[in-house]
Amino acid sequence: MVSRLAVKGGAALRERPWPLWPQPAPGVPAAVAEVFGSGRWSVSGPYRGAASREQRFARAFAAYNGVPHCVPAASGTASLMLALEACGVGAGDEVIVPALSWVASGSTILGVNAVPVFCDVDPDTLCLDPETVEALITERTRAIVVVHLYSAVADMDALKRIAQRYGLPLIEDCAQAHGATYRGVKVGALATAGTFSMQHAKVLTSGEGGAVITHDGEFARRVEHLRADGRCLSATPPAPGGMELVETGELMGNNRCLSEFQAAILIEQLTVLDEQNERRRANAALLDSQLGELGLRPQATSEGTTLRTYYTYAVRLPDGVLEDVPIADVTGALTAELGLPVVPSYAPIPANRLYAPHTRRRYTIGLDHEERIDPKRFTLPVCEEAARRTVTLPHSALLGDADDMADIAAAFAKVLRHGAELAH
Ligand SMILES: *Cc1c(COP(=O)(O)O)cnc(C)c1O
Repeated sequence: MVSRLAVKGGAALRERPWPLWPQPAPGVPAAVAEVFGSGRWSVSGPYRGAASREQRFARAFAAYNGVPHCVPAASGTASLMLALEACGVGAGDEVIVPALSWVASGSTILGVNAVPVFCDVDPDTLCLDPETVEALITERTRAIVVVHLYSAVADMDALKRIAQRYGLPLIEDCAQAHGATYRGVKVGALATAGTFSMQHAKVLTSGEGGAVITHDGEFARRVEHLRADGRCLSATPPAPGGMELVETGELMGNNRCLSEFQAAILIEQLTVLDEQNERRRANAALLDSQLGELGLRPQATSEGTTLRTYYTYAVRLPDGVLEDVPIADVTGALTAELGLPVVPSYAPIPANRLYAPHTRRRYTIGLDHEERIDPKRFTLPVCEEAARRTVTLPHSALLGDADDMADIAAAFAKVLRHGAELAH
């Protein structure tokens, strides 16, 4: 007799542990220990005669991405809000953003008093659909945010054409795509600015953290002021013990600085990013073929993509299979077999329980604004269908070996074979 599903009391397919995340680079403990005794724990602390870790990371990350400017920040959320404000987005402006993303894609736009206009996605790449973007542009549109979601790179040729035609800034949210390339260029370096998150789950992490990258020096200067209470780094360093941040008064900001501890970790983690991304890509290729044989459809990427970064492995269930089973029951069954958090893809942001503008007094700035930010006014059929049929695996699993990938494929095969057990 074939064993029953683990979620129904059968034996789990696998008990072995999965790779732990984060995986620290070898130099991390010494780098952090050095900060302890350095007399400078933040870029806003006194200058000690050498470049801050924050600036060293900024330089390294700018070089990695092939851009002249990088401004580190406290989080991906902070980075997005900084980039939006540096584009001049403000009260009442509309910002077009994909509805299939982490809640921060919507809440950051609200956070600068602007109006998120949620856009549907391409069914194969799950990234912003250029034609739908164009249909949503109005005279109040002030910017477009594109998210390179899960393991895909969005159709940047088409999106750049649209942004140029309408004179709109295009921000790339690269929180899930560190190291991915499009026509040989790093994501984040393709448009007005790129924003990154270095939160715990991301492929480059310091627990929390973020960065904004850009080709535009004036833009970078605005971001610098916005993230350091209106201060920016002096062109020439002060005498040791002095403040490196200069009070220019050019542009008011808020403190969203990364600490020296986080910067020290990121400098080291950046040295292992490519190697870890490569390992994930190789394992994803194994999964693509093994799950493809079962009729599952791995997430596609845009035609111009030259290197993918697997933040999440997303795969669509075969048509006509398990249609009457809620997706959360399918992912629950896979989780029970594998001992790995397998989850459905994001709900469209307007349907995400975390997206609740009415719970915050700061957005009650007039009836017109409240109506414009009402999550109920969006129709997003492709996002909804994707959310109903897409299963996702965390990138830490892709740091395993070929046996680990075979276990994942075997778990999918078992759950598909025993689908009837889930149907009631
Ligand atoms: C993680 C994430 C963010 C937010 O980054 P935080 O560092 O958690 O603030 C924004 N956008 C996307 C697409 C993300 O995945």
